Amino acid sequence: MKMTKENFIHEFKKRLGERYALDVKDAAPIELYQTLVAVVKSGYSDIWRKTWKSYVKNDQKQVYYFSIEFLPGRLLKSNLLNMGWYDVVEAGLKDMGLDLDQISETEVDMALGNGGLGRLASCFMDSLASEGLPGNGNGIRYKYGLFKQKFVDGYQIELPNEWLTDGNNWSVARTSKAVDVLMGGQVHLHDNGKYYEVTYEGADLIKAVPYDTGIVGYHNDHVNTMRLWDAQIPASEEINYPTIEDRRRVEDLTSVLYPDDSNYEGRILRLKQEYFFTSAGIQSIIRHYKKYDRPLTEISDHIAIHINDTHPAMCVAEFMRILLDEEHLDWDVAWKQTVQTMSYTNHTIMAEALEKWPVDMLATVQPRILQIIEEIDRRYVEELTGKKDEDFIERTRIIKDGMVKMAHLAIIGSHSTNGVAKLHTELLENDVLHDFYELYPERFNNKTNGIAIRRWLQVANPTLSKTIDQTIGTKWRFDSKELHQLAKYDDDQALLEKIGAAKRFNKVRLAKVIKEQTGIEVSPDALFDVQIKRLHAYKRQLLNLLHIVKLYLDLKEDPNSQQVPRVFIFGAKAAPSYHYAKSIIKCINEVANLVNNDPTIEGKLKVVFLENYGVSLAEKIIPAADVSEQISTATKEASGTSNMKLMLNGALTVATLDGANIEIKDYVGDDNIFIFGLTKDEVLAYETNHQYRAADYYENDPVLHRILDAFVDGTIPNIEVEGHEIYDSLLRANDEYFVLRDFAGYVATQERVSQTYLDQAKWNKMCLLNIANAGYFSADDTVEKYATDIWQIKPNVEVQKGAIDDVYPF
Ligand SMILES: *Cc1c(COP(=O)(O)O)cnc(C)c1O
Repeated sequence: MKMTKENFIHEFKKRLGERYALDVKDAAPIELYQTLVAVVKSGYSDIWRKTWKSYVKNDQKQVYYFSIEFLPGRLLKSNLLNMGWYDVVEAGLKDMGLDLDQISETEVDMALGNGGLGRLASCFMDSLASEGLPGNGNGIRYKYGLFKQKFVDGYQIELPNEWLTDGNNWSVARTSKAVDVLMGGQVHLHDNGKYYEVTYEGADLIKAVPYDTGIVGYHNDHVNTMRLWDAQIPASEEINYPTIEDRRRVEDLTSVLYPDDSNYEGRILRLKQEYFFTSAGIQSIIRHYKKYDRPLTEISDHIAIHINDTHPAMCVAEFMRILLDEEHLDWDVAWKQTVQTMSYTNHTIMAEALEKWPVDMLATVQPRILQIIEEIDRRYVEELTGKKDEDFIERTRIIKDGMVKMAHLAIIGSHSTNGVAKLHTELLENDVLHDFYELYPERFNNKTNGIAIRRWLQVANPTLSKTIDQTIGTKWRFDSKELHQLAKYDDDQALLEKIGAAKRFNKVRLAKVIKEQTGIEVSPDALFDVQIKRLHAYKRQLLNLLHIVKLYLDLKEDPNSQQVPRVFIFGAKAAPSYHYAKSIIKCINEVANLVNNDPTIEGKLKVVFLENYGVSLAEKIIPAADVSEQISTATKEASGTSNMKLMLNGALTVATLDGANIEIKDYVGDDNIFIFGLTKDEVLAYETNHQYRAADYYENDPVLHRILDAFVDGTIPNIEVEGHEIYDSLLRANDEYFVLRDFAGYVATQERVSQTYLDQAKWNKMCLLNIANAGYFSADDTVEKYATDIWQIKPNVEVQKGAIDDVYPF
């Protein structure tokens, strides 16, 4: 039976009545939302059960994707889309006088991640399910998601994000699948002649309880699982935690997500989190594996474990621990299985983001894990002694100067290390990880990041999606490479106008959001220039700001100067402890205040910094963007993914030759992107020869001189402290990220952008070609490459094409 509007309405009303004893007209938004979630969940729960059963029945190899962050955002619309229910439900709600958009807004974002890394993990979850691949997520169910950002007097204020107050409607607690995680205390080994008997003394026993969320595949009757762990006190141990403080110590483990992006905080609680979700995940995988009486000596034929960045690198040692201490395998046999099972993705080359934990701290968190890492290290050194020179061994070993290098553990303990864009992988191979590349060339490979086209185009931009359907049909909704068919229409004036009209529609929609949230009026006829990403010095929001100040000063000097009207839109959170980034936020907000309230500027320049950037806000901003700012210092941004989301929605990219920007340029061609700035080789040269002098640019460029002075001479008000800080970072600290060096090129490029915008036909054609080529960045293809090259997993043989609506469950 098919899911029809009538079926839906009937089911919805029935459940609303059962659950709340209410009619539609009396129900509050939260009640409507929760009822809708219940209907949706019951729509896929049967298929969810069938999916995991089929894995067992068909003895399929599965992958477990370990990530300390997942950033799914809202799930309602995405699930409706993937189930094939979207249109029917939207129409059914409308018949009842309800609005899907409004109900969806009730959902609190699941924000268990900081930015790109967590969002990538969630795009991969969607794609694994949509490709029918047996893939599971493994992570932490933080009680508090990423902080909520507010601005007070232009300063960032962080508020707790208590996302679970109304419960989470998508997840299911599986208390029966809980596992015990041992932490702390002391460990004793006793050699009984066959193996070491391991006993723990004074260790804490923590109960890890899994919460499973169904991840619905796109029109394929396939639902995977994302498993997030919560820390609780085991009933048997309650006596050991008599006070509230004692209990809190355990509950705190999964209480907060560390709010640092591309920067690690060496706090012991974080290390405990890393061990906690790693151990819980590995234990449950092996327990499940053993239920089917297969030998552990071939476990790597049946499961793959992926280490997303180094946070789960202890997977290597935990897997060894279980094979050795609990299953009594020989070291060499266990090691072979471990290396064959594990694979690792590197996400950054920036020194401050590379995790190094003090040996003493690891000893406190889990002494047995430290012993195993020490033994892995000892054997690594022994193996290479005589084959490699001493320097090489000292540079590459895992433990050095009392610190455990997590990336080294992940590389040595796995069969695959990949970077996330061509340039990034090249830097790993030739520079940062060159030693390991020399040692294990066959382990290195590239997997350029991708995005879920479904969320970032079908859900976020229905207007553009319909225009695409009318042009090339709907095949692209199943295979995004089909978007390339659009390129044939690049001279179709009617289509180009429709693309422009869709953009304008979305700009009007965003202008409304801006008005509601900030009170600022912006014109949809202005160029919307967007930079949305975490606030970080290397991402260079400051370069963008210097350009804005230039435009402002130009207008003050000559109010009649012809500028293409622009609205600059920012979205960005700074880590609470990242002082410099917070100063930049303050400066952007003060420039915004100055510009937006200056009557002589009226209509020519606006600056909008939207609060609390996250997935849901991104879904509103991205469809309305004309320009995408991707202006990191070359070599610093491993890949970037907002660059992909924005091009997919027809924004034109202003970019440095960094991360995946290079691949975007290769696809769209030089004429359809705006490139400027230092290249990788130029940056690396400066970093070795130390010949960069930022002050030269200040002294020799009067325009730049005037702009920097504006930060310290009162031109920009209310930044007495922050203005000097930024000025000093550029001139006294010699501008670590080459902002001044790239400024002139950036301004010239932005002038080309404005000139191009004046020719709307040409602009729309460029947009079309960006949309047409964005399908190459589909995460569906990325995960297929991981599946074939790294994990050796295949799609579920029972995947059927066709929507869940073909199996009406009620
Ligand atoms: C895509 C995305 C990011 C990553 O943006 P980059 O510009 O690639 O750093 C960060 N946060 C959210 C909410 C996103 O959707």
